[in-house]
Amino acid sequence: MLDRRRSHAPAPVALSPGQVRALQRADRVRGRWVVRAVALYSLIGWLVVIIALARLGISAPVVASGIAIGVIGAALFASFLTPSAWVGAIVVVANTAVVTALTHVFGTDASIELQLFPIGFSTFLLVPPEYIRVRAALATMTALVFGALQFVAPPIAERAPFDADQLERTSRVSNLLAAATVLVLAWLVQRRFMTARRIFEGAALYGELRAATDELTGLVNRRPVQARLEELERTGRTDYAIAVLDLDNFKDVNDAYGHECGDRAIQTVAGVLSDCFRDVDLVSRWGGDEFVVVLYRVLPSELASTLERVRVAVENTWYTWDGKDRTVTVSIGGAIARTGRTPMDCLAAADDALYRAKEAGRNRVILADRFGPATESRRMPSTSD
Ligand code: GH3
Ligand code: MG
Repeated sequence: MLDRRRSHAPAPVALSPGQVRALQRADRVRGRWVVRAVALYSLIGWLVVIIALARLGISAPVVASGIAIGVIGAALFASFLTPSAWVGAIVVVANTAVVTALTHVFGTDASIELQLFPIGFSTFLLVPPEYIRVRAALATMTALVFGALQFVAPPIAERAPFDADQLERTSRVSNLLAAATVLVLAWLVQRRFMTARRIFEGAALYGELRAATDELTGLVNRRPVQARLEELERTGRTDYAIAVLDLDNFKDVNDAYGHECGDRAIQTVAGVLSDCFRDVDLVSRWGGDEFVVVLYRVLPSELASTLERVRVAVENTWYTWDGKDRTVTVSIGGAIARTGRTPMDCLAAADDALYRAKEAGRNRVILADRFGPATESRRMPSTSD
């Protein structure tokens, strides 16, 4: 499988539904301009052919080219009036008709029928992807016409109104033109594909992020934490700790000042947690008024003081409601990983410590294990206290 890190493909950027719609709209507009550009390119091409043939006094393909120019010109004009999906199909059919007429007159020695390759390929740009059958039918038509011309218009140089030299030159120009046009069309198809992929990946990433984000706080919700715990179990890492934080007497806030005030308090605490923990730590809103944090590379002896700093930060942070500054406090339970303790056990131990912090009077930190020197803070008793 291709590794994106080693390829030069840009990392996908999350796209909201609005951004997806805007990009799709822009892509459709660009698609219409591509149809117009191809129509104009065909018009100019056939005009050049008509002029060249008129100079040689050859009239049969001039009529066919003239009709095609009229049809393509009308389609080009119509593309500005109505965003019809059929404009591209008409251009493909008209181009196929001219190539057939020219090959019929000059034979296959002039290689004019090779233009059917870019024409067939162009259906993938000129006809919108939702008309998949029309695309397939037109591409098949050009292939069948190419095959049929090999028999209907055999290489009879004598029949052609050119001498051998002219035929060879025409053939060379036609070959080069067909190859160059196919390359340009392939590049345009590639660009459309990249845009479609960018939109698809961006929308998927947005959905993933939405599913993993708590709307109220912007923190991750419990999904990424659960995934991280599973990963920790798989890798057997033991250099992490888990903290569970719960707002104290939060029901009273809701009851006294209303749910919106409660929401503000939750957002305030989420902001403090985001500021206090490091980027490597995973801070989540577990649900309701509860937060779970996975801390990495934390020394057992430092866990208590780290969590105590967070507790104090929450205690000292105000939010304003009804014109008054208010504060909330949190109780925190912490547990450190160790061999033989699974991540889920670690979470359960932290939750258990939180329960004891609540029982011990709230607004305090309790660890599931005692590490290092006993903490000085009255608010940080350990299990064995
Ligand atoms: P304790 O100190 O024991 O935790 O008491 P508490 O009142 O905080 O009790 P508990 O944690 O069980 O209460 C959680 C409350 O949080 C219950 C629910 O009404 C409220 N709650 C849950 N989600 C939300 C929310 O998104 N917004 C608001 N405003 N309230 C919420
Ligand atoms: Mg609570």
